[in-house]
Amino acid sequence: MTAQKIDGTAIAQAVRDEIAVEVAQLQKEYNLTPGLSTVLVGENPASRAYVSSKQKACAELGMNSIGHKLSADASQEEVEGLVKELNADPAVHGILVQLPLPSHLDEEKILGAISLEKDVDGFHPLNIGRLSMKGRKPWFVPCTPSGCIELLVRSGVPIEGAEAVVLGRSNIVGLPVSMLLLHRNATITICHSRTTDLPGVCRRADILIAAVGRPEMVKGDWVKPGAAVIDVGINQKWIEHPADREWTCDATGETFIAHRIDESEKGGRRKVGVYCPDCDAVYLKDEVPEDCQCEGTISLFRKYKLVGDVDYDEVKQVAGHLTPVPGGVGPMTIAMLMQNTLRGAKHALGLV
Ligand code: NAP
Repeated sequence: MTAQKIDGTAIAQAVRDEIAVEVAQLQKEYNLTPGLSTVLVGENPASRAYVSSKQKACAELGMNSIGHKLSADASQEEVEGLVKELNADPAVHGILVQLPLPSHLDEEKILGAISLEKDVDGFHPLNIGRLSMKGRKPWFVPCTPSGCIELLVRSGVPIEGAEAVVLGRSNIVGLPVSMLLLHRNATITICHSRTTDLPGVCRRADILIAAVGRPEMVKGDWVKPGAAVIDVGINQKWIEHPADREWTCDATGETFIAHRIDESEKGGRRKVGVYCPDCDAVYLKDEVPEDCQCEGTISLFRKYKLVGDVDYDEVKQVAGHLTPVPGGVGPMTIAMLMQNTLRGAKHALGLV
């Protein structure tokens, strides 16, 4: 059997097209443009990239996005103060505080300060609490978990009565996706790092959701023939390059694998070290001594590719449906954020 690929990029586009139509209607009928405020604390490059892709998505759908940047040493009061201002701003229908926050900040308190009606990430304790209770409705559902459900539904995978196994119990993915499956009447098993016989438990699943952050952990013989497998994981897998060699960092004595590259080289790659011709020394990227100006340093790179938590090539031989990485759950996360922001705007108009 070869699994049917669940094309997250195409499904996310369909969701976005539907949203764009509704955004245009709100503008025409109510003269209201949905607005998302993003709050970025610090300079984490991955967080910056996530925030900018969310802002780009807003622009594509005709929504406003208002970016707020605070320095990495912003105080708890400053961040909470900004959140409160945004709560009171009628042009803002969704507030997204990009996680992770710097470690000196109390994440739970900051997320708890977001108004329930603007909590488009769905991480407010009350939204999560309502999601976890029978018969209660959260204002917003976290985006990655609801994206997983949307992928199953739009691919025609029956959820009611299915045996579902969720690998991972994080607040962001594992736990909320389990609750969503339960509300749709699946029978759930939640696995984690202390689960015994993981392969045996996974083999029972009609629906298997992998959210562990372990590259290609789920193998073909972990999967029941015909099962629907949703791979949430995003991991870097280092791949060999013909010019790879071992270097020793002159600052720490640690060894690492890397190669000098031609700037035109394409594909995933990450700077892991530098060679400084001025001092004729090799340094790991974060270990360059302060007194070394490193004029004309030569960068040392490793190549990687993005892989999920599922061994795609093995599992596609067994599963009935399977999401790829990239191009599966990832695009859905942003689409669902846009859907939540639209919902926030509709709520402001009293339409939901
Ligand atoms: P997380 O907070 O690190 O949680 C990982 C979960 O997996 C934990 O519950 C952990 O168990 C469990 N686990 C770890 N190693 C395990 C093992 N060897 N066997 C069994 N269980 C194990 O991660 P997360 O935030 O949920 O993210 C999971 C993955 O999804 C990551 O690759 C992340 O990058 C990706 N992700 C993707 C999106 C997207 O938009 N596509 C969004 C969010 C996250 P314990 O609880 O016992 O420690």
